[in-house]
Amino acid sequence: MPALDEKLQDIYTEVLERNPGESEFHQAVREVLDSLGPVVAKHPQYLDAAVIRRLCEPERQIIFRVPWVDDAGNVQINRGFRVEFNSALGPYKGGLRFHPSVYLGIVKFLGFEQIFKNSLTGMPIGGGKGGSDFDPKGRSDAEIMRFCQSFMTELYRHIGEYTDVPAGDIGVGGREIGYLFGQYKRITNRYESGVLTGKGLSWGGSQVRPEATGYGTVFFAEQMLEQRNESFDGKRVVISGSGNVAIYAVEKVHQLGGTVVAVSDSSGHIIDDKGIDLALLKEIKNDRRGRISEYAEAKGGSVQFSEAGSIWQVPCDIALPCATQNELNGADARTLIKNGCTIVAEGANMPCTPDAAHLFTKANLAFAPGKAANAGGVATSALEMQQNASRDSWTFEHTEARLEAIMRNIHHRCLETAEEYGAPGDYVAGANIAGFTQVADAMLALGIV
Ligand code: NDP
Repeated sequence: MPALDEKLQDIYTEVLERNPGESEFHQAVREVLDSLGPVVAKHPQYLDAAVIRRLCEPERQIIFRVPWVDDAGNVQINRGFRVEFNSALGPYKGGLRFHPSVYLGIVKFLGFEQIFKNSLTGMPIGGGKGGSDFDPKGRSDAEIMRFCQSFMTELYRHIGEYTDVPAGDIGVGGREIGYLFGQYKRITNRYESGVLTGKGLSWGGSQVRPEATGYGTVFFAEQMLEQRNESFDGKRVVISGSGNVAIYAVEKVHQLGGTVVAVSDSSGHIIDDKGIDLALLKEIKNDRRGRISEYAEAKGGSVQFSEAGSIWQVPCDIALPCATQNELNGADARTLIKNGCTIVAEGANMPCTPDAAHLFTKANLAFAPGKAANAGGVATSALEMQQNASRDSWTFEHTEARLEAIMRNIHHRCLETAEEYGAPGDYVAGANIAGFTQVADAMLALGIV
């Protein structure tokens, strides 16, 4: 890994000291600082006003107890988090993650990334993130509802359409947003649609929001292909995960003429050389909340399920990691490069380890970081907020066209900024610098707050 600029190294050392044990947060900060050397050389005012040091310290961090009663009558205790990271550009905006691995370091890494991602969308939204170490797997609907109600009973006092607007992430989809919104409405006696996004269509949600992150990632990858005078047509694609982001990434790749040959969940991956049967995948994952192995069972002998080994061993032209952080390591990157993969776009947040990202850049493979490639989800959340504010609802076609235009614009900003700062074609530098400068300029204008 190249050394950091000296002044940025001091900031990084301070982050390590002030946030012990939060390795994912350290990684996310380091990745941004790695790009900022040329920026502070050109604009020393960002250092003088301590903009970067202030950016690394969340404006507010809330940790709370979430007590609830399971179906057997036992009292369960989880921990809830909301990190309101930066509101220079607008109300805090970012999803809630329910997964047993959630702790403060994960919420801070996600919240930190969200600042730059939201800035890149060009929309008036700040950065935040939240969640709980609650594990929804195997829980009944009634247990999920009671958990969500208890979670919101604390969270409601910290959020609002002009303050902080949560949405979904891992383990939080339409069902959970429904229970959360119901409890918010009940406690506050306000039908404040703009307080949460990812709502159902009949009660304030937006068309294309469920599809937005996956579709947006594929629109971004399409732009990367266009740079090389290529398209998805006839391409073999591997997508990790089989949740919200992955499923709609599969759908859009197939619409654009590519073939997705492998998907996964935390228990393993399946390979279907004929192309993933999307109707079957949705039935298993969305309707039954089942496991990916059931796909292989349903297809009989033509589809392999592997518990062991990495999905990245499956040869492909394009890889879209859409499951979770650090799921694609240096060894996986080497395998992808060796197998001739030329495009990697992150649908998940920080799925590639730093050494994997470094290897991609060295191999001249086109590599797009999540803060650019998966920004379509939050951008469409901002479109949902617009519709809520104007009491309007747009058609699917109109909303999808807006999403596509936003992704094109982010792609353009990344490349233009990378070029301006002497790193042509480097999406990581472009995304970090373009996202950073917009927030940093707003912070300068708003004074020391
Ligand atoms: P979901 O909960 O819908 O799906 C997550 C998927 O990833 C599941 O298939 C899950 O498998 C798999 N997964 C989770 N952890 C692991 C692991 N440790 N190893 C292998 N597979 C794993 O979440 P989303 O699809 O919403 O989110 C996926 C990623 O996209 C996350 O990084 C999220 O932060 C990011 N993202 C999501 C956005 C959104 O709008 N939803 C917006 C922008 C980014 P299993 O079911 O077995 O756990």
